Amino acid sequence: MESFHAGTVLKLRGNQGEEMVAKLLVVIHAEEEFDWEQGFNSANNAVNHHQVLIPFMAELIDVGAKITLAMDYPFVDSPGGQEVISHYQPRVDQQVEFAAHLHPWVNPPFVSTQEEASDFESYPCNLSPEIEFEKIRLLTEKIQSVSGMTPVTYLAGRYGIGPLTNQHLRSLGYQVDLSISAYCDFSHQSGPDFSERTNQPFVENAIRHIPHTSSWLSVSRRLEMKVNQFPSWSKRLNHTGLTRFIGKALRLRKYRLSPEGNDLSQLLAITQAQLNIGQEVFVLSFHSPSVVEGRTPYAQTAEDCLNLKTTTRRYIEWFQQELGGEIVLAKDMAMTEA
Ligand SMILES: [Zn+2]
Repeated sequence: MESFHAGTVLKLRGNQGEEMVAKLLVVIHAEEEFDWEQGFNSANNAVNHHQVLIPFMAELIDVGAKITLAMDYPFVDSPGGQEVISHYQPRVDQQVEFAAHLHPWVNPPFVSTQEEASDFESYPCNLSPEIEFEKIRLLTEKIQSVSGMTPVTYLAGRYGIGPLTNQHLRSLGYQVDLSISAYCDFSHQSGPDFSERTNQPFVENAIRHIPHTSSWLSVSRRLEMKVNQFPSWSKRLNHTGLTRFIGKALRLRKYRLSPEGNDLSQLLAITQAQLNIGQEVFVLSFHSPSVVEGRTPYAQTAEDCLNLKTTTRRYIEWFQQELGGEIVLAKDMAMTEA
């Protein structure tokens, strides 16, 4: 994989040759700790990682980050999450944005007496429209009552945005949605299929959608560009034994722009691959419990946590200093042309 030369600020050019500035959103999925292997249980409400999250956010802000904190119900409802909120309240609108993140299995109203939610029910888009709306509404109210702020940015849990979500968001005053996961297909577990979506932001029904950044990478630059530009190619490559073999041989793989499971060189390669097809808006994301060891599958040891934090900080520094990009809050993208 190619990496950037230190000290080179890349000049991005738009279609008309004009100079562009790449934009980065740093999105933290602020949520309860739960064992990801043990299913979705409404009893999992613990937030105990706040004492590590607070200084880590400060460290990122110190190097120029603006943080979109997408908070779910248990996070906002917990003493730990509330400490994070009150700590960062003075920085809201400047360096921090309080956004909403819906984990339906731990978010009222609860329609089932069962504590356990199935894979199907874990995607908000699979709920009845009334229940999906009510859950977003109660989450919005909770954020308002605890933080005094009205969230304008939404992130569906498990990227579970559906055909009616936009309507709900609009009627509740939202302007930005971060729920799309470019190139990803969750249909094997009853989730949405974004395999034909790129990272290109767009507006629909007055809501600006900014996908969570992923990218295909390959040792073949040509294949990488083709699949990133025309994502349906990835399905074609999976079609027959021969095409699957070609994809494998050329090490075609999808990566998320996240320090969870990726090192800095991978994050730079993902960014480069998307710059190569003209993409200039990026979403770097991770889950808040990953700052403490053993709370998510991505950070099992203290060393994993340290690596995750270092990678995040160094990417944020690189994005500004080497790429010449700018870090923005999600809400800043609401009315601007992306
Ligand atoms: Zn989540």
